[in-house]
Parts: sequence; C-alpha cells; structure tokens
Amino acid sequence: MLLNDLKIGNKLLLINLIAASVSMMILVVCIVVIAFHSNRTSLVHNLNADAHILSENLTASLAFNDTKSAQSLLEALRWSPHIKQVVILDSQEKTFAKYPLDTTQSFNQEDTLSSYLSSVSIQLPIKIGKQQVGHIQINASLNHIYSQLKQFLALMMLAMLLAGVLGAFMIRRLQRYLTTPIIGLTRSMRLVSSTDNYALRFKLESKDELGELATGFNTMLSTIQSHQAELDAELLLRNQAENRLQQLAYYDQVTKLPNRHHFNEKMTSVVASSIQNNVLCCIMVIDLDDFKIVNDTLGHHIGDDLLFAVGERLCHDIRTEDILCRIGGDEFALILDNLTSTEQAQHVAQKIIQLMALPFILEDREVFIGASMGISFCPNDATSIPVLLRNADTAMYIAKRLGKNYYQMYLPEMEAKNIRRFALESALHRALDHKELFLHYQPQINIQTNQLTGFEALVRWSNPELGLISPVDFIPLAEDIGLIIPIGEFVLYQACLQSQQWREHYQVDTSISVNLSGRQLIQANIVERIIDIVNSTKLPLHLVTIELTESILMDHTKETLDKLEKLSASGFTISIDDFGTGYSSMSYLKRYPIDTLKIDRSFVSDLPDDTNDVAITQAIIALGKNLGMKLVAEGVETEAQLAFLKMHDCDIAQGYLYSRPLPAIEAENFIIALSDAKNHASAETTIN
Ligand code: C2E
Ligand code: CA
Ligand code: CA
Repeated sequence: MLLNDLKIGNKLLLINLIAASVSMMILVVCIVVIAFHSNRTSLVHNLNADAHILSENLTASLAFNDTKSAQSLLEALRWSPHIKQVVILDSQEKTFAKYPLDTTQSFNQEDTLSSYLSSVSIQLPIKIGKQQVGHIQINASLNHIYSQLKQFLALMMLAMLLAGVLGAFMIRRLQRYLTTPIIGLTRSMRLVSSTDNYALRFKLESKDELGELATGFNTMLSTIQSHQAELDAELLLRNQAENRLQQLAYYDQVTKLPNRHHFNEKMTSVVASSIQNNVLCCIMVIDLDDFKIVNDTLGHHIGDDLLFAVGERLCHDIRTEDILCRIGGDEFALILDNLTSTEQAQHVAQKIIQLMALPFILEDREVFIGASMGISFCPNDATSIPVLLRNADTAMYIAKRLGKNYYQMYLPEMEAKNIRRFALESALHRALDHKELFLHYQPQINIQTNQLTGFEALVRWSNPELGLISPVDFIPLAEDIGLIIPIGEFVLYQACLQSQQWREHYQVDTSISVNLSGRQLIQANIVERIIDIVNSTKLPLHLVTIELTESILMDHTKETLDKLEKLSASGFTISIDDFGTGYSSMSYLKRYPIDTLKIDRSFVSDLPDDTNDVAITQAIIALGKNLGMKLVAEGVETEAQLAFLKMHDCDIAQGYLYSRPLPAIEAENFIIALSDAKNHASAETTIN
C-alpha cells in the first residue's frame, strides 16, 4: 500500500487530511439534506398560503363563470419564482383556467422520491360556503432551491479547501512533537548499526510512549554494549590463543624461526611458482658441525642459546624474501627464491661460512660452531619437495664428509655415495658382533736412539661384502651414529691386551697409543671406563697414551679439564693428535695436562723443502719443548724428513719410513728386535 512507503510525517499528514475531509464531507452532506428539506417544507407552506388566497379570490369568478377574470388573476402568478403550473378545475372537473396558458399536462400526484426531489404539487378545494365549486392545483419547481444549494456547496468547498491548507500547515507544525523523536531514534539506530558503536545513547526527556521507547532503546544498547565488551574480551583471548597456537604450529620455540611444517608450506608455494614461471629457486640445508658436542659439554640451555644465535645471525644477512626455517635439531633450511643463477646461491653459502667463522658469545664464553651445507636447485635437480630435500641432505652430508664447514651443490653422482653410506652404516652395526674389526699397530721410534718406544693402535674394518674400509671413512660415521663408544672401548681393550701380552712375553715396556674420539670423551664416566678397561688387561696405566685431537680441547669447560686431569693423575700420557691443524689457542696448552704433541703429517710431508712447513714445524717443536712436552712427528716417509726432525730435536717419529701400521703378528717383530737389543746391551754391560 502507498501509505506504507511514506515517511512518518507525510503519513500523519495524509491520515489527518483524509479523516478531516471525510468528516467535513459528511457534515456538508447533512447540512445540504437538512437545508433542502426545510426549504422544500417552507415552499409547501407558501404554496398552500398562495392557494388559499387564490381560492378565495376565485370563488366569485367560478360562481359567475367569469373565466377571463380568473385567467387574469392567474397571470399575476408570473412573479412567483417557484410556481410552474396552476390549473383551476370547476365542479365538473373541467379546466376553468390555467397558468401558463399552453399547459396541457395534468398534474403528477405520485408520492415517489423522484417526484419529491423534482417538484412540489398541492391541491386545494374552492368552496362557496360549504359547497365545493371547483378546486385548484399548483405545481412548483425546486430549481430555485437547488441553485441556492449549489451556491452554498461552492462556498463550502472553498471554505474546506482553505481549512485543508490551514490544517495541513498546522498538522505539519504540530506533528513535529511526535515525529522529531521518532526520526531521532531512527537516526540513532542507523548510526549504531552502521558504526557498531553501542556506546551511543538517545536523549529524550518525555514521559510518553516515545520516552519509554527511547529508554528501552538505550537500555537495549547498554545491554548489547556490555555483551559486546564480554564478547570482545572473549574474542581477544581467543585471538591470543589462536596466535599462540599458530606460533606453536608454525614456529620453532627455540629459534623463533618457522618450523618444518611452515617450511613445507612455504616450499610448496615457492616450488609451484618456480615451475609455473620457470625461475630458479633452491633449498639449502644447513647442518651445524659437532653441535652435539656443544650440547653434551656445555649443557642444553647453551645449546638452545647457540641455535637461537645462529638463527639470528643467519637471518640478519639474508634477503627479506628468503625464508630461513629450523627443520630439525641442529638443521636449518634456507629457501632462496627467484635466483638468477646457481652462483647466487653459492655466494649465499660462502657468506654463511664466513658468518659462522666468528665466535658466538654465550654466557661469557666463546663458542665456535661450523656449518655444512647442501644445496639443491628447482627445477634443475628436481621439482618435488621430498626429492629436493633429499638431494640437499645428500649434498650436505657429502659437504660434512669433505671436511665440515663447507658447502656442496647436489650432483646426481652423489646418490651412489649416499647409498654407500647407508650400506656402511648397516654393516657397521654388525661389525663388532661379526668380529670384523681388528687392530694394526704402527711403531713409534725414538729419533735419537733409533729404538722402538711404542705403537699407535689403529683400527681396521674388513667386511666380506664391502672389503677393507679405511677408518677415515667409518670413524666419522661411527661418531655420527654413536657406534664410536663400543668401537673405541674395543680398540682400547684390544690394544692394551696385546701390549700386556707382549710385555709379559718379552719383558719390554713399550707404550701403546690409543685414539680417543671427542664423542667418547664427553661421556660422563669416561675416565672410570678407561681405567676399568685398561686395568682388566693388567697393563700399567702409565704405558697407555691417550691421543686426543685438538678440536676436543676447543671447549674450555671444567668437565673436560677435570677429565683430562683425572686421566693424567691416574698415570696416562695425554697426547694431542694432528697438532697444528685446529684453531688452538696457546692458553689451553698450558691449562691442560698435556704430555705430548703429535705434529700433523701435513707439515711433515713437505719437509725440509717447504719453508712454511719448516717454520711451522720448528715453531711447534720450540713450543712443545718450552712447555716440557714430548714431540712426535707423524707421517715420516723420507730420510730427509727424519734428518730435519733429528736436527731440530724432535723426540719420536712415526711413519712409513719405519713401518706402515702392521697386524699384531708382524708388529711383534719390532718388539723382538727391541728385546734383542736390550738383551744385547745388558749382556754387553755384564761382559764389561
Ligand atoms: P691418526 O690418528 O692421525 O692416525 C695416523 C694415520 O696416518 C693412520 O691412518 C696411519 O696409517 C697414517 N700414517 C702413518 N704413517 C704414515 C705415513 O708415513 N704417511 C702417510 N701418508 N700416512 C701415514 P689410518 O690408520 O687410516 O687412520 C686414519 C685416522 O683414523 C687416524 O688418524 C685416526 O684419526 C682415525 N682412527 C684410526 N683408528 C682409530 C681408533 O681406533 N679410534 C679412533 N677414535 N680413531 C681412529
Ligand atoms: Ca692418532
Ligand atoms: Ca694424527
């Protein structure tokens, strides 16, 4: 309905106007009907009076049959505005006179509504005394009344129009008391719904229903507002919880870097866009070198701090679009997108190596950690994420094997090497049980006296399928998978047992050097284990030399110092293997109870021609002598090397010049020779 769509002001106006108009119409109609009826009634009265006067005046004319005077009497009726027809009938009902003269119609005496509305007719007998001599019929028209009513109606209409305009104006003015609060309420409601500001209130100081409505509206708003506040607080809590979950689900708690889950998602999108747009991307797996040593020696909290520091340092130097994630214990992954060349990734890897060369300061101590990296490119190497990851892992593993703190790009031929690692790994697990491990002994000779001082025990592995495997290949693997512990104990036991057998058999006290891996030294009860094992062979502890590589001594922890001091106090000789290749600081040499330095064979090999090696070797010998240590030269292969070492006062030589590492049965010849020499010497002394 039209009314429904109107604004409240217009609606009110229209309703008022309609109601006023209808009532005024009814009023006008009533007035018109009453006016018509009263006018007609007075007309009837007048006509009756006229008829009486006429009948009295006509009695004479009728009595004397004087039509003429009757006719002239009727003519006078011409002045009456109402009278339409007058007929005088005589006693025989014949027309005696009539007005107007041309009237032919007889009178309509019907009593119907239409005759009531159209005309008035009256009839009156004409009497002389008591005798009726005729009668008079008068017919009058109502036109005059109608024209008066018309004028009245026209005036009324005009008045109504004026009243309507005035009324509309008044309504407009007065309805504001009603519409203003309603419109205000509506506006407030719109404002609330468009701004969601439930703190808004609508002020209306009235005690009517509108006032009630406004109060209700405000109460409703405050209820919503308090619910909203509760809801907001709940929402905030939920958002915080969601963020925390998100953080837990997608970020690593130690480094605050994206975790493996996040990494997989990122990698999926990077690889997809790389394939679609044919651009180069890569994944770089970054594995910390010897992180376990840090964790085991310095504690897990320092390990965690170090992981965080590494993540932070790496993040600092990569492009913002590169994504660094922690995907495992000490394993990070870097996704490099939109590469222009493979060299770009190599450049990043080199930068990471440089970054990692700087020490990390954790709880006031310097910690060094290296990283090995493997890189695999998409789409060059693979387009599937698991394959890319495996490739990068393979390359990283090769990088580790090539000397750690190194990066390597994936090459298809690496697969073979990796397969070999798995084969080695599973075979190594069975090596001890299958008695595939055995020892070779390499003699160590006193340079000045040319006499045997002892042997270094070197482990060998002979596998029926894989053949003879070098310790260079399987010792790092054994360290990685923890097998170095039983292997190391086997070597120590075997070497000491052999040494004790020779001792008992030939009565010579030669030393036996055994290599101790860093993984073994970090065991809490390592000192007790070593003492127990050596004691079980009955070999005196002072005949055992423990060879440690320089890197073990890099962490200057109290535990390491305590262990070495206990070993030294128990009588063991402590020797530093491959000396000169690590980043040793001179200070630790003084702090630790070190008896012997083994000059690395890389310095010995180019003696005496390489001036650098000459300088280094001389410096090591001087340093060792100053600190009261014995010096052993490794890898002595030539007489010239030996001559140089002898000239510079090196104590002991070990190398192919004297002998390769030998099976026990062959090494025994050196013992026999020493025993013979001893016997010979004592015989000479006896003779003398
Ligand atoms: P290393 O402790 O420095 O052992 C010396 C290595 O130099 C031995 O290699 C030996 O065969 C080799 N060598 C000796 N003289 C010469 C020479 O004149 N010229 C050349 N070119 N090489 C010479 P090997 O036996 O292959 O052992 C390699 C490494 O494996 C050892 O280096 C040591 O780090 C490790 N290793 C061997 N046996 C054990 C063991 O029982 N326990 C542990 N933890 N590591 C071991
Ligand atoms: Ca050694
Ligand atoms: Ca060595």
